[in-house]
Amino acid sequence: MLKCDFCGRHAVYNRRYAGVFLCDRCIIKSVERRFRRAMGKYKLVSPGERVAVAVSGGKDSVTCMHLLADHCERKNCELIAVTVDEGIKGYRDRSMSIVRENAKLLDIEHFAVSFRKTFGATLDQIAMLAKRKKTGLNPCTYCGVMRRSLLNQAARELGVDKLSTAHNLDDEVQAIMLNYVRADFSRLYRLGPGYPSREGFVPRIKPLREIPEKEVAVYALLKGIKVHLGVCPYAGGIHTEIRDFLNQLETNHPNSKFMILRMFDRMKPHLARSVPEFELCECKICGEPTSSGMCKSCELLREFGLGLKRKTIISGKSR
Ligand SMILES: [Zn+2]
Ligand SMILES: [Zn+2]
Repeated sequence: MLKCDFCGRHAVYNRRYAGVFLCDRCIIKSVERRFRRAMGKYKLVSPGERVAVAVSGGKDSVTCMHLLADHCERKNCELIAVTVDEGIKGYRDRSMSIVRENAKLLDIEHFAVSFRKTFGATLDQIAMLAKRKKTGLNPCTYCGVMRRSLLNQAARELGVDKLSTAHNLDDEVQAIMLNYVRADFSRLYRLGPGYPSREGFVPRIKPLREIPEKEVAVYALLKGIKVHLGVCPYAGGIHTEIRDFLNQLETNHPNSKFMILRMFDRMKPHLARSVPEFELCECKICGEPTSSGMCKSCELLREFGLGLKRKTIISGKSR
């Protein structure tokens, strides 16, 4: 029997990048400690703030909601949950009920916003239109951009000080690599534990950024947190290739993911000098903040005759 390197109990997890084995109690404590460390080190939430957590129903976001619920209670903060219903048949409908169940359990107010009500079409319909019009763009491209605008608009309407997403170490390192591959300097520069406030943008925080995906999964499992295990039917393309590449690298060279993250964090202050200052203005169609006349969502949706409405229809309030 393998023993926990910290307390000698039966080990359940092999943390290869650190060369240690951990028991159930020690891995739970370690994940919670890393979450708290990120909250403290980067000052992600201040006492008394109103925080929204974006919850899809998957293991990362539901775990993030549980950890934040505990943290907010201690710090006298208010936590609410927001789910974006992209309109992916057989996927989002199932995960939505899991989010509701968890929100109820934690006594958190839950809001749903939908692509259909805000943009006039579901992601399924947009994916079909994109195929028909041969835009050459992947459904994930539309989804990412639209979800970002919608979450920002909803967070603003809900009057929150911070918007938390559940990006874990793997997600963040994938994003770093993706922006390298695409040579997208401004998006690369925007990555980090928190994205500071700018006019019209609700500051974003990523409290799970230094926790590997596997450890979030182990934590959820050991804590008996109910999560949705479905995989988005649109997942694929370059995102999956980069994920597989990084997993292979980590298997052969443990700790690579942390090293990529650390290197990026060390470089970021130096990158600041190269990022051009830009003025923000309102999108002429939807009013969302943008550096050009039209926001990315409206630009993408224009060719389908769709666009973001000025007011998000927040629905699905449940408690
Ligand atoms: Zn232990
Ligand atoms: Zn717009």
